[in-house]
Amino acid sequence: MHPLIQYRVAQLLEQDLGDPNHLESTLSFKKVIELDEEEAFPEAELNWLYNWHLQDYYVPVDCGGKFTNFEEFLALVRVLSRRDQTTGIAFTTMFWSFLCWMAGTEEQKQKLAQFMIEEHGTMCLGYSEREHGSDLVNGGLTATKVPGGYLLNGEKWPINRATRSGVTFVLARTDAEGGAKGLSLFMIDKREISNSEYYNLPKILTHGIRGSDMSGIGFNNCFVPDSMLLRQEGDGLEIGLKGFQITRTLCAAFAQGAADTALRTTLNFALKRVVYNKTVFALPQPRKTLVDAFLDILICDCETIGAARGFSVIPEQFSVWSAVVKYFVPTQLEKMVNDVYVVLGSRFYMRDEHDCGIFQKVLRDNSIISMFDGSTVVNLHALMLQFRQLTKYRAKRKPETMAEIKPRLATIFSLQQPAPNFEPEKLELFSRGADDSLQGLEIALQQLEDLRQESNVNQETLEKLINLGKLVLDELNVHDELIAQSKFEFGHEQSPELFEIAKKYCTLHAAACCLHMWIYNRQLLGEFFASGEWLVLSLHRLLRTIRPMPYLISEVYLENVAQELVRLHRENKLFSIVPIQLAQSEINKQEDQTNAITELVHV
Ligand SMILES: Cc1cc2nc3c(=O)[nH]c(=O)nc-3n(C[C@H](O)[C@H](O)[C@H](O)COP(=O)(O)OP(=O)(O)OC[C@H]3O[C@@H](n4cnc5c(N)ncnc54)[C@H](O)[C@@H]3O)c2cc1C
Repeated sequence: MHPLIQYRVAQLLEQDLGDPNHLESTLSFKKVIELDEEEAFPEAELNWLYNWHLQDYYVPVDCGGKFTNFEEFLALVRVLSRRDQTTGIAFTTMFWSFLCWMAGTEEQKQKLAQFMIEEHGTMCLGYSEREHGSDLVNGGLTATKVPGGYLLNGEKWPINRATRSGVTFVLARTDAEGGAKGLSLFMIDKREISNSEYYNLPKILTHGIRGSDMSGIGFNNCFVPDSMLLRQEGDGLEIGLKGFQITRTLCAAFAQGAADTALRTTLNFALKRVVYNKTVFALPQPRKTLVDAFLDILICDCETIGAARGFSVIPEQFSVWSAVVKYFVPTQLEKMVNDVYVVLGSRFYMRDEHDCGIFQKVLRDNSIISMFDGSTVVNLHALMLQFRQLTKYRAKRKPETMAEIKPRLATIFSLQQPAPNFEPEKLELFSRGADDSLQGLEIALQQLEDLRQESNVNQETLEKLINLGKLVLDELNVHDELIAQSKFEFGHEQSPELFEIAKKYCTLHAAACCLHMWIYNRQLLGEFFASGEWLVLSLHRLLRTIRPMPYLISEVYLENVAQELVRLHRENKLFSIVPIQLAQSEINKQEDQTNAITELVHV
C-alpha cells in the first residue's frame, strides 16, 4: 500500500477495478467503448461503484460519510476517469451534494446523506438555461412564493443526469427585481413533488461522454415545499458561486485521469512501433513530445494537489485558486492530449484500433471539461475581476503577512502533513486580494537560496531553479505593474488583452505551485522528484509560453525524464508526482515475457 495514507483508498479502488486493458475488468476500455458506441448509460458500472461504497467518500464524516479532504477525493476521481470519463462524471454529479453540506440544515443534510449512502441516490445541478448559459444572474426559471412553498416554472438545460437523478438542485428567481439577490437555490427531492408538474427534456446527443444522461428538466406550476429551499430566499447565487469553487477545482481530476490514459496508450504504441529501424520513442521529436506531456501532468499535479490541500487551509482564497485550476489544468491537459495524438499517428482517429480505440474517446470526452462548470472564459473573467485587489494586496504585504503565509504554505504543500478537514462554510465570494501561492513566491526563493548549504542537493540544478524562480518573480512584478497602471472596469466587456494577461497569471501560479511542491516534498517523493530536473524543465516549459527563452534547457535532464517516464510505464504506475501502483497490466505482463521493454529502455 502507498506510504501516503491519503492515496490508499484510490489505490484500493484502482486494484479492485482491475486492468482496463483486460477485457473482462470492470470499466475495461473495451466495455466503455462499446457503451459509448451504443450511447448507453453505464448503469451496471455505476452499480459496481455503489456496491464498492464509493458514494461514502462524497459525504462528509460529520454527515455519516467518509469524506475528509480533497486530496484523497481527487485521487479517487482520477482513478475512475483514467478508465472512463463518462462514468467518472456520471458518478461524480453526486458531488453537487456539497451545496447541501455547505448550506443545508441538519435535517436536510441527514436526509441527503441517507439518500446517497443507503439508497444509492444521486443528484444533478440545474443552473444553465437554453437562453442564459453562463449568465446565471439573468436566469429565467421562477419560483413564486405560495403558502407552504413555491411554484416553479421554467426549464433547465443542458443538464447532466437531469433525468436519472433523484434530487435536483435548481437555481430559481424568487424576486423579479432582486438582481443577484433575487435568486434562490432549491434542493428538490423528485419523490416529493408531483410527477405531473415536472418533465424531462429528451437526451441530447453529444460529441463526447456519449453514454451520459444529458437532458434537461422543466417545471409547470410545480409545488415545492419550503423545506426544499437551501438557506434563505435570495442566497441562491452566493451558495451557487461558492459551490462552483469546489466543483471547479474538482474538475481537474477528470482531466488528469484522461491525460494519464492518453499518454499511456500513446506510449504503448511508441515503445513498440518500429519505423526506420527504430522505435517511435527513440526518435528525438516524438520522445520530446512525450516527455513534455509527462511534464504537463506533473505541473498540473502540483497545481491541483496544492489546491486540493489548500481548500482545507485557505478556503477563503478559493475564488482565486479555483478559477486558476479550472482554467489552467483542463486547458493544459486538453492541449497535451492534442500534442500526443500526433505521436499516435493515424490510430488516434480510428474508433477501434489500438487499445480498443480508447484514445479517440478520451479526446472527445475530455474536451467538455474546460467548458462545463464555468467555461474557460468565465473562469478567466472571474479571476481578472480580482486582479486589482490581488495587486494592491501584494504591494502592501508586510513582514508579518509573509510570516503568516509561510506556515500556511508548509501545511498546504507538505504532503506528509495531514490536511485539515475541509470546512465549506469558510468559503468566501472574494479572496480580498490574498493568493498565498504567488504571494509566497519570495518565500520559496529564499528557501531555494538556503538549499545552497545542503549537501544532498545538486548545486547545478539548484542554480537553474533559482534563476528560473527569479524569472517567475520578474514576470509577476511585470503583471502587477501592468494591472496597477491599467484602466480597470468591472463588468463583462473586458478586453481580449486582459484575458491573455489572466492566462499568464495562471501560468505563473502553476510555476509557483511547482516550486512550493518541490521545496516541501524533496525528501518524500522519491529520487526522481528530489533531483529537481523535472522541475527545471517544467518551469522552463511554463516560462517559454510567456517570454523568449532558449528552446532546450538541458538534454541530459530531458533524457533522465524520458527514462523515468518509461520506468513508470514499465512498472505500471500512475504518471504523477504521487505515482501510485496501478492494477496489474496485461500489456506489461506480455512485454515482460518478451523482454521487449528492457531493450526499448536502452534505445
Ligand atoms: C456535456 C455538458 C454538460 C453540462 N452539464 C451541466 C449541468 O450539469 N448543469 C448545468 O447547469 N449546466 C450544464 N452544462 C451547461 C454548461 O455549463 C454551459 O454550456 C456553459 O456554462 C456555457 O454556457 P453556454 O454554452 O450556454 O454559453 P453562453 O453563456 O451562451 O456563452 C456563449 C459564448 O459567449 C462567450 N462568453 C460567455 N461569457 C463570457 C465572458 N464573461 N467573457 C467573455 N466571453 C464570454 C463565450 O465564448 C461563450 O462560449 C453542460 C453543458 C454540456 C455541454
